[in-house]
Amino acid sequence: MTAPTKIEAEQLLIDLLQIDTTNPPGNEKAAIDRIAAEFQKRGIEPTIVGEIEERPNLVAKWEADPSNRTGCPLILSSHVDVVPADETRWEHPPFSGHNDGTYIWGRGAIDMKGFAAMGIVALNTLRSEGISINRDVIFAAVSDEEAGTRYGSRWMVDERPDLLGNDPEYVINEVGGFTVHKKGKRFYPVQVAEKGVAWLRLTVTGKPGHSSLPAQDSSVAKLSRAIDRIASTRLPWHPSEEAANFLAAFAEEEGAVAKKLGPLLLKPGIGPKMIDAAISDPARRASVEAILRNTANPTRLTGGKTINSVPAEVSVDIDGRLAPGQTTQDLIRELSELVSPVLGDGFSFEILHESPPVSFSSDTPLFRSIEQAMNDFDPDGRVVPSLVPGFTDSCNYARLGATCYGFYPLPLAEDLDFASMFHGDNERIPVEGFHQGIEILTNLLRKFLTT
Ligand SMILES: [Zn+2]
Repeated sequence: MTAPTKIEAEQLLIDLLQIDTTNPPGNEKAAIDRIAAEFQKRGIEPTIVGEIEERPNLVAKWEADPSNRTGCPLILSSHVDVVPADETRWEHPPFSGHNDGTYIWGRGAIDMKGFAAMGIVALNTLRSEGISINRDVIFAAVSDEEAGTRYGSRWMVDERPDLLGNDPEYVINEVGGFTVHKKGKRFYPVQVAEKGVAWLRLTVTGKPGHSSLPAQDSSVAKLSRAIDRIASTRLPWHPSEEAANFLAAFAEEEGAVAKKLGPLLLKPGIGPKMIDAAISDPARRASVEAILRNTANPTRLTGGKTINSVPAEVSVDIDGRLAPGQTTQDLIRELSELVSPVLGDGFSFEILHESPPVSFSSDTPLFRSIEQAMNDFDPDGRVVPSLVPGFTDSCNYARLGATCYGFYPLPLAEDLDFASMFHGDNERIPVEGFHQGIEILTNLLRKFLTT
C-alpha cells in the first residue's frame, strides 16, 4: 500500500465538498459512502450504522496488535453535515469544491469536512508505513452535528458504544489547532472545554380577545417586552477555571495592561461593568463574554393564528448556552428573574433540549503530544487550552469517559478572517494549510501511537 498523494488528498476533500449535506435535512449518506470507499480502497472495511438510512454514521477501525496494545482506543471524529449556505453571497458556489490553487472552496471546508479528509489521509499514510500502533484507532464520521447530534454522535454513544471502542480514552475532534495571530505572535488554541446547551421555550399567556380593541397586556405585547430584556441584558458572570486559564494565556503575551485587567475582568462584581471599556471590538467582546457567562438568544417565535384576534398564548424559543459548572435550572432561574417584572406569573419555561457543559484535563500525554507536534511545526507558536462557546460531538463522547480535544491543525496566514467562515459566506480552506495540517496530524499520531 502506498501513502495517499497530495492530489488524492485534495480530491478527497473536493469530493466531500461537492456532496450537499446541508442540515436540515442532512442526507449525509453519499458523503459517508465516499469515505467508506476511501477506506475500502486501502483495505479497511468500515461499519455504517444509523437510525435513518439516509443519515448514517461510519466507523473505520485500525486495530493494534494485541501484544502491542497498551492503551484504550483513540477516536478521530468528524461530522459530515454542514449548515445551509446562501449561494448568492458566495464567490464560488458552496458545493463546487472549487480549487483555485490557494484555497479549496466549499461549505464544510472548515466545518469540518477538511478535518475528515485530513484524518483519513493521516491514517492511511501511517498504515502505509507499516508502523505498529499501541492502541486501536477509530475513525468516526458522523451525521447531524449541526442540528444537535440526535442522529449522529448522540445516537452512536447511546446505541452503539461498542463501535466507539466502549471505553475510548481520547477523542480528537473540532474546534482548535488553527492559528490565532495576535500582535505578531501565533497561538494555537486547543479545545479542552465547551459550554453546555439549554434550548428553552418561553411561553407567555395573556388575555385573548378581538384585536380591534386596545390590548396593552396581550401575550404578544408582554412577550416582546420579555424578549427585549433577554436580548439586552448581560446575565451574571460565572468565571470558570477553564475560562480564566484561556484568557490568562493571551493576556500574558499582550503586555502589562492586559495582564492587570485580565483578573479584574473575571470578577463577577466588576467584569460586567468594565468589559465595554476594556474590550472595544464588539466581536472580540462577545467571544470573551460568552465564555464567562450563560447566554440566551431568542431565535424563533410562534403564536397567533389570525391577524384579527389576540392570541392567549405565544412563545419564543431561546438558544441558551451554559458556562462550565452551570445547569439548565440555573439558566432558567436567571431568565425568570429577568422576565418576571414584565410578565408577572403568566409565563413558563419548557426544556426542548439540554446537554451539560464539558471539560477535560490538559494534563495528559495526548495534550503534551499535541503541544509537541505544534511546536515541531512552529517553535515560536504557543498552544493554549481553550473553552469554546459552541458545542461539538465531544459533548456526547464525554459520556463514554473519553478525554476530548478540539485539534484540527490548520496553519493560517494572518490576513484570513477565519472566524467569519464558520457558518459564514465563502467558507474555504487554504491549500497549503490543509497539507500542513495533514503533516502535523500525521506526525502527532505517528509519535503518540508508537511511544
Ligand atoms: Zn462543526
